[in-house]
Amino acid sequence: MIETDIAIIGAGPTALFAVFEAGLLKLRCHLIDYLPQPGGQLTEIYPKKPIYDIPGYPEILAGDLVDNLMKQIEPFKPGFTLGERAETIERIDNKFWKVITNKGTIIQATVIAIAGGLGCFEPRKPPIKGIDAFEDKGVDYIVRDPEVYRNKKIIIAGGGDSALDWSIYLTDVASEVILVHRRNEFRGAPDSVEKVMHLASIGKIKLLTQSQVTKIAGVGKLESVTVLHDMEGEKAFEVDHFIPLFGLTPKLGPLGNFGLNLDKQAILVNTLDYSTNLPGVFAIGDINTYEGKLKLILCGFHEATLMAQAAFKIVYPDKKLSFKYTTVTGIEGMA
Ligand SMILES: Cc1cc2nc3c(=O)[nH]c(=O)nc-3n(C[C@H](O)[C@H](O)[C@H](O)COP(=O)(O)OP(=O)(O)OC[C@H]3O[C@@H](n4cnc5c(N)ncnc54)[C@H](O)[C@@H]3O)c2cc1C
Repeated sequence: MIETDIAIIGAGPTALFAVFEAGLLKLRCHLIDYLPQPGGQLTEIYPKKPIYDIPGYPEILAGDLVDNLMKQIEPFKPGFTLGERAETIERIDNKFWKVITNKGTIIQATVIAIAGGLGCFEPRKPPIKGIDAFEDKGVDYIVRDPEVYRNKKIIIAGGGDSALDWSIYLTDVASEVILVHRRNEFRGAPDSVEKVMHLASIGKIKLLTQSQVTKIAGVGKLESVTVLHDMEGEKAFEVDHFIPLFGLTPKLGPLGNFGLNLDKQAILVNTLDYSTNLPGVFAIGDINTYEGKLKLILCGFHEATLMAQAAFKIVYPDKKLSFKYTTVTGIEGMA
């Protein structure tokens, strides 16, 4: 069991800045995110897009902002549980909370800060009969650890950036990479399309366009997939992994069952400190709602700051909190 002061559900920009503000008050944080990397929407949806409304940065790429936030929180040594979904929360002795993930990891904390954004990103699954039975047995919708594919035969499906980027990356890891796409044209960055075409021309990627995976088969685990070409018909390929990368859609998911007061798909909060109807549970960033709410990164930063102050009073009810500027205190990390 992991013990901490604040269990933060989500590792998007709001959660990362919450670690900083909590760290200034010597509160420890542990973050849980269903995605395999921190950064939330910024990393998952638009890492290469410039953002223009972060104070002090006339322009910054979303991916660079996440890198900077990670650097900014380094002194506070936060813990991370990535690739796991916070599934349930339990109140213990009216004093602590337990956050339990879909993989059984337990995080015990005095305070929970829900920074779940638009919810968990769920993969768009291709309509292939019986695909559910092969999930985690050869079918993966997200590349969590590229090493899983070392010296394996893999087939990737999709026409966007994820499919292109992973096909390129995994040529150096897997023994064979097949990329299947329904059309002849790809939707991804022109530079990545060019790289894939080059790798296909030198035989490092087997490129199958105007094609789709229609059947999958195996005993206990994936063994083969069948690809249907628009003109040439079906052909079976022996593979160890099938990775359909058709994008992710956000769903509120288990956060909707925590017993929180909701308005549509968002958690209602008190704007005094972004507390919810549950004691010691806060909701910050895109996941919350209140009159005048704006889903902006800088609003999440503000909410995280006020939440941290309120969390301090719950973790240390007998201590006085005196407000100080970082220009006066500097940054003192965790021991
Ligand atoms: C294309 C695009 C452009 C944008 N441009 C701008 C801009 O220019 N300026 C601006 O200010 N904002 C912009 N935004 C909005 C901005 O990205 C969001 O306001 C911001 O990402 C909110 O941060 P967050 O940390 O609250 O949530 P998110 O970034 O959504 O992160 C939430 C995280 O919580 C995780 N999560 C959810 N539920 C669970 C669970 N049960 N267990 C584990 N993990 C969970 C998710 O996996 C996710 O990683 C843009 C958004 C998009 C899509």
